[in-house]
Amino acid sequence: MTRPAVRPDLAMFEGYHSPQVEVEVRLNTNEAPGPPPRGFSEAVAAAARTIEWHRYPDRAATELRAAIGRLHQLPAANVFCANGSNEVLQTILLTFAGPGRTVLTFEPTYALHSHITRISGATPISVDRNDDFGLDVGLACSTIERERPSVTFLCSPNNPTGIVEPEATVRSVLESVDAVGGLLVVDEAYGQFAPWSAVSLLEEETPLVVSRTYSKTWAMAAARLGYALGPTWLIEELDKVVLPYHLDALKQAAGLAALEFLADMEARVSSVVEERGRIEARLIDLGCRVWPSGANFILFRPPSGDGTRVWKGLLDHSVLVRNTASWEHLDGCLRVTVGLPHENDRFLTALELVLGATS
Ligand SMILES: *Cc1c(COP(=O)(O)O)cnc(C)c1O
Repeated sequence: MTRPAVRPDLAMFEGYHSPQVEVEVRLNTNEAPGPPPRGFSEAVAAAARTIEWHRYPDRAATELRAAIGRLHQLPAANVFCANGSNEVLQTILLTFAGPGRTVLTFEPTYALHSHITRISGATPISVDRNDDFGLDVGLACSTIERERPSVTFLCSPNNPTGIVEPEATVRSVLESVDAVGGLLVVDEAYGQFAPWSAVSLLEEETPLVVSRTYSKTWAMAAARLGYALGPTWLIEELDKVVLPYHLDALKQAAGLAALEFLADMEARVSSVVEERGRIEARLIDLGCRVWPSGANFILFRPPSGDGTRVWKGLLDHSVLVRNTASWEHLDGCLRVTVGLPHENDRFLTALELVLGATS
């Protein structure tokens, strides 16, 4: 057999890597540290019993869109739902990027922005962030005006740095994007941790779309559900491109049920923020470089600068963090997700031992 050749533009493609290792303390994928409340599981179980399993689900996810819209004080026509915000981003890129077009990211940022860009057939281009991972707005805007990307990504709070993009920055980038007929996507996977949201900038005649997910703050990574908020004309275009009936009935029910527990979600966010402060302080004590985080994770560089060795040392203590040490721009850095207090203690104790072992 001659193996069928993959698309030439994907021939050298590497899949997405995020190892799922069996450990006692898992702090590597920015999930919520605990499950949603029991009432949520009970509501989903009750909904499961009423599903007409022989029928296709509501293709438009009418109720779910309306409920998400209410959460953000927007009509349902401004809401698009998909299987995780990754599918939201994929649908946006299939619709507005694709062959012959470019997509701009500001690095370092969420790897899937450029990854899905390639899958869509478009060409990723990037601008580097400053040494402190802030954005040089002048450079960002001049690049947009010169390169005229079809899609520009901002991620706020940014993964993996944790930095919240100031409102003035987003407004400036949006103006440049608008001037070249492009689209600005603001990925707010960690939006509930930030002091402001680009949702406040949405307008019918503004080329802006904001993506959100149930995977992090809603403690529902297993559900694979995310959504976009944007102008109605944009949502209509996304609806033409996404596969029909892509959102199963149980997922739609789960997404609706979750929204009944808004106060629990907000309480989880507050306790994560409190723990984040405690971890940050201790990391600084231990001599690590720490970047101020507006999310549920912290990027840090161990004093030895030898991230991979520290990562392995932590793993020996059954603590898994994200090894970003070899990522471009992130030389020697690690990213730790804020877990439950006892998990954070395990992480900090293990880190102390690993760091102590070298000095
Ligand atoms: C985790 C994350 C997502 C979430 O993707 P899902 O497909 O919704 O699980 C999206 N964007 C960023 C920046 C993330 O960190």
